[in-house]
Amino acid sequence: MPWETIVKSPRDWAVAPNLRDYQQARRAFSWEDARRDLDGLPGGRGLNIAHEAVDRHASGPRANHLALRWLGKDGDTRDFTYRDLHALSNRFANVLHTLGVSKGDRVYVLAGRIPELYIAALGAWKLRAVFCPLFSAFGPEPIRARLAIGRAKLLLTTQSLYERKIKALRPALPFLEHILLAGDDHQPTSVPDTADYHRLMENAATSYAIQPTAPEDPALLHFTSGTTGTPKGAVHVHGAVIAHHITGKLALDFHPEDIFWCTADPGWVTGTSYGIIAPLTSAITSVIDEGDFDAERWYSILQSQKVTVWYSAPTAIRMLMKTGAAIARQYDLRSLRFLASVGEPLNPEAVVWSKEALGLPFHDNWWQTETGGIMIANFAAMDIRPGSMGRPLPGIDAAIVRRTDVGAVEEIREPGVQGELALRPGWPSMFRAYWDEPERYQKCFAGGFYLTGDLAKRDTDGYFWFIGRKDDVIKTSGHLIGPFEVESVLLEHQAVAESGVIGKPDPVAFEVVKAFVVLHEGYEPTEALQRELLGFARSRLGAAVAPKEIAFLAALPRTRSGKIMRRLLKARELGLPEGDISTLEAG
Ligand code: ATP
Ligand code: MG
Repeated sequence: MPWETIVKSPRDWAVAPNLRDYQQARRAFSWEDARRDLDGLPGGRGLNIAHEAVDRHASGPRANHLALRWLGKDGDTRDFTYRDLHALSNRFANVLHTLGVSKGDRVYVLAGRIPELYIAALGAWKLRAVFCPLFSAFGPEPIRARLAIGRAKLLLTTQSLYERKIKALRPALPFLEHILLAGDDHQPTSVPDTADYHRLMENAATSYAIQPTAPEDPALLHFTSGTTGTPKGAVHVHGAVIAHHITGKLALDFHPEDIFWCTADPGWVTGTSYGIIAPLTSAITSVIDEGDFDAERWYSILQSQKVTVWYSAPTAIRMLMKTGAAIARQYDLRSLRFLASVGEPLNPEAVVWSKEALGLPFHDNWWQTETGGIMIANFAAMDIRPGSMGRPLPGIDAAIVRRTDVGAVEEIREPGVQGELALRPGWPSMFRAYWDEPERYQKCFAGGFYLTGDLAKRDTDGYFWFIGRKDDVIKTSGHLIGPFEVESVLLEHQAVAESGVIGKPDPVAFEVVKAFVVLHEGYEPTEALQRELLGFARSRLGAAVAPKEIAFLAALPRTRSGKIMRRLLKARELGLPEGDISTLEAG
């Protein structure tokens, strides 16, 4: 069913968007110009993320501007100005230096969203170490594997995480030279084999001069979500900051007085590129919430912090939908100006819901750990076609391609034809390697393209529409079906809160579509409802695409970053091994 386009009009703009004319912005764009929006290290000594994020503001008119407002899960608040972050990250760079950490060494952080994580990231970049954040809810084995892949030299964590997850692993981590403990659970008593972050920081100097940093110097090691297989460690360089900065401006529409909230954890790339770097390079204020998702907590943060730009994800939005619009209406959300979403396909239903319930539509955008920054987006000034990911960023060439035979790739120029989404390499935040896996990296490139592993199509106006991940696409009776389309239609039914769709092997059709459905509260998983949903889907999708089977589940398996793990639905359906489940959400 076609959804009505959400038309944007200059009359609705509270402030004029940074990108007003898409075609003109594309024509005028160059990465050299984007680079000129940044400062560069003094004396032409290169480009360093931490200088752009903090130091240049700390020595200018934004020095006393609020950079981070941290909201603790138990109600405390801590504020950091640009000047504060400058001094603290200098101290941490000095701590690293004193401990013998040097350029290129890997500095890992395993922690929740605590201020020390943000300070450590900035300090590590100043020293030109490679920062690698690990999601704090990982179990010991995924932690061990990731520390080993990057051969971590130093790990910053909290005492409780150390006791629960690291201590027993220590003998398996011979390369790990230092473990620092920070955080609120920190006790003054010393823990053997670890050092006290706070004491080291107290004793460290507050001045630090960043050494020359080449734009190609590695800065970040970021593991992918593991939605489709074993996680990969994508390597990003300091020059990526050019893309972080310009996408913050163009795709998230940052303006100087914005209060920005990115709900992603820095354990996932969104929480680093947009939870740390982009808002800081733009010298705006970021809200960091240590707490977990809770609809009322989130609405009250939006209200009390007067958030203007909000970046979240489809799972969270669907959970807000599940709690209902009536709750949203109890809060004053008038400060909000721009809403964006990433990480999974955003169902058109969710875009339209948010416009009604929150007063503004969510703007879907697409990117990956590998791309380092937003690549395709619905821009503030551009009409939204619900269900579309939007159009490529100025400076980004996106294409739909087909692999002909081994190694050969051909571009599909006709609109409406589905194929693999591909990008022309060359943007600054493109990953430079999968750590220690050169072959896996090489396989991502062919015919002058970076092949994303996602399937999509482009319409006549250049909007991109997500079909599915290559691994999730269903082949049935000669058709290729993207699970997203089927899931979105099921979501339109009032009983359905969530759905995950897979292809189930079938002797005749090759595969048939099977849907797993989570119901809204108040609905019973009856056979009658099953029949009703099958009929509902058939009437909207047609018999070829509609699910042949529907099963009810209490919850869908998802990654800790909130993505539906269809490969696990499938493995469980077929009684096959579950594969790598290191990123599976517990419970
Ligand atoms: P892995 O590569 O380990 O399987 P992953 O691909 O989920 O994990 P990420 O890099 O975190 O790891 O996620 C990027 C992927 O998320 C994209 O390739 C795409 O499949 C999906 N995605 C992100 N944003 C969108 C979006 N707006 N619409 C549809 N899919 C999206
Ligand atoms: Mg991926």
